[in-house]
Amino acid sequence: MITAEQKPIQEIRDMISPYKKILVLGCNSCVAECAAGGEKETAMLASALRMAAKMNEEDVLIEEKAIERQCVKDFVILLDDIIDQYDAVLSLGCGAGVQAVGDMFYEVPVIPALNTEFLGETKEQGLWLENCLGCGDCMLYYFGGICPLARCSKQLLNGPCGGSMEGRCEVDPDMPCAWQMIIDRLSRFGALERLEQVYPPKDWSKKQGVGPRRIQREDQQR
Ligand code: SF4
Ligand code: SF4
Repeated sequence: MITAEQKPIQEIRDMISPYKKILVLGCNSCVAECAAGGEKETAMLASALRMAAKMNEEDVLIEEKAIERQCVKDFVILLDDIIDQYDAVLSLGCGAGVQAVGDMFYEVPVIPALNTEFLGETKEQGLWLENCLGCGDCMLYYFGGICPLARCSKQLLNGPCGGSMEGRCEVDPDMPCAWQMIIDRLSRFGALERLEQVYPPKDWSKKQGVGPRRIQREDQQR
């Protein structure tokens, strides 16, 4: 999923300050899972903004709503009936959601309330870890299902650096050494020979080399 964190409240207040009727718009998918932009966080942010406006005697209408996915047109279009009531949307979607809402309602400013962070997993309650960079050419097979690009601090593809200690990463001892995990996992599978080949430097052209990426599948198009 895509992870995100809420921006500082003052930054949000500064961005919405030119507007008088604001829809605070949550997204009940990835950003709900990471407790940044779901229905609950949307209600809390809207309430905090209303309170701040009241304390500063600002004449502003702040209402809230959450939709299932801000990055999917079929859900964004559900705002069609109400969008005219507002002169700005404060989005708690990820960067893709903010832009999707803005693309559909071109005349309405859509302001990001979150900082979009990374592709990750919910490891435990309140802990999200980055584990994929979306490189466009997945190599997890060769590394026992552990991504050295996302999870090794030095993005090493041909074995560990010399600094790993007791299975922890020298850059951040709070994190396990990805290469220790790779070796442990491949050993478990009896597949350590996958590390005998030398992997060339990562070809990032599938991620960043050809401009904005897209996936287009005719079999899925209506
Ligand atoms: S190899 Fe690429 S696609 Fe696979 S997990 Fe790592 S970054 Fe993601
Ligand atoms: S200690 Fe392990 S995870 Fe950290 S940089 Fe070195 S090889 Fe990568």
